[in-house]
Amino acid sequence: MERETFFSLAPEAARERVIEFGGRPFHADVVRREVFERGVLAYADMTSLSQNLRDRLERELPLLSSRETHRTTAPDRTTKLLLELADGATVETVHMPSTRADKGATLCVSTQVGCPVGCPFCASGRAGLERNLAAHEILEQFLYGRSIGPVSRAVVMGIGEPLLNASNLIGALAVVHDELGIGARKITVSTVGFPERVRRLAPTKPPFQLAISLHTPDDAQRDELVPAMAGTPIAAVIEAGAEWFRATGREVTYEYCLLGGANDSRGHAERLVERLRGQRCTVNLIPYNPVAASLPGQVSGVRYRRPSGETAENFRSVLEEGGLVATVRWSRGLSTDAACGQLRIRHGSASGD
Ligand code: SAH
Ligand code: SF4
Repeated sequence: MERETFFSLAPEAARERVIEFGGRPFHADVVRREVFERGVLAYADMTSLSQNLRDRLERELPLLSSRETHRTTAPDRTTKLLLELADGATVETVHMPSTRADKGATLCVSTQVGCPVGCPFCASGRAGLERNLAAHEILEQFLYGRSIGPVSRAVVMGIGEPLLNASNLIGALAVVHDELGIGARKITVSTVGFPERVRRLAPTKPPFQLAISLHTPDDAQRDELVPAMAGTPIAAVIEAGAEWFRATGREVTYEYCLLGGANDSRGHAERLVERLRGQRCTVNLIPYNPVAASLPGQVSGVRYRRPSGETAENFRSVLEEGGLVATVRWSRGLSTDAACGQLRIRHGSASGD
């Protein structure tokens, strides 16, 4: 069985351990405050606790179950962390400071080790799914992020398909909401949009915004681009998105990875307008990040290329003329293995094809 750590225990259970180790009940709150408010990640640095208590905690109840094994920082200060979990599996977390000095960072977190969906343009799904992350393993990514600097927003867009691990994710986000103070409107969960899962979640109004990765207006092409959803009509995905809006009052964002030469034609844009007509939503266009092409294990003859700025802008203007709100999102930190799943593969933790 996996070893107990401070954050793998419910707050009440962690408090009991602290008392067992000779501390007072409020010392457990001191630990939490040091971590959430000051970004401290070592008992040794929690100097308001006695040396004795720090030593016992260190020996018998480690703070975290994961450890940082690699870190890369891009010139724009985007920092990418590779975290090794207790069983040796690895996940990635990305800390992206705001470009405005007065705002905190956005954190990008992972929900699974690998991903079972298998989108052909994505590094994360290359080796399939190893396992779901536990709630505390998701939470710990936030704690590592917080240790780099204040975090004011989060996107659940790292490795994995969040709705296939929804209850652990929601457990982690409850703590993030209460103790890190990141509100529902500042957390975005990105999913391929399994309709029945979206519909089941919507009435529970979970504390996040929903982004659905659509990628194409054409059913046959979506079967190829999102293999685990083959056979699910796009209309059912969009209907589930509409249901989410009705139940939560929060607009859905549709994500569309622009794959040069595959789904970035004028016809695709026009058909997307038809699909989304009348929906309360926005569209984020994400130009394909081809860094994955240079990774070990990549199939030769890369199928996709990064679209030009002009193509992306043309696509956007067709959507806008059709009455949709659309933005092009060029990914940040391109020089440092930007697309999620790449750091993990480069360091040999996920096998290639
Ligand atoms: N599994 C979820 C969340 C993780 S992926 C999902 O698919 O939505 C987050 C986003 O990154 C998705 O919209 C995905 O399409 C996009 N993405 C994955 N690989 C990419 C790449 N190489 N270039 C650009 N966007 C990519
Ligand atoms: Fe999984 Fe999302 Fe990557 Fe598809 S894009 S393989 S769903 S992480």
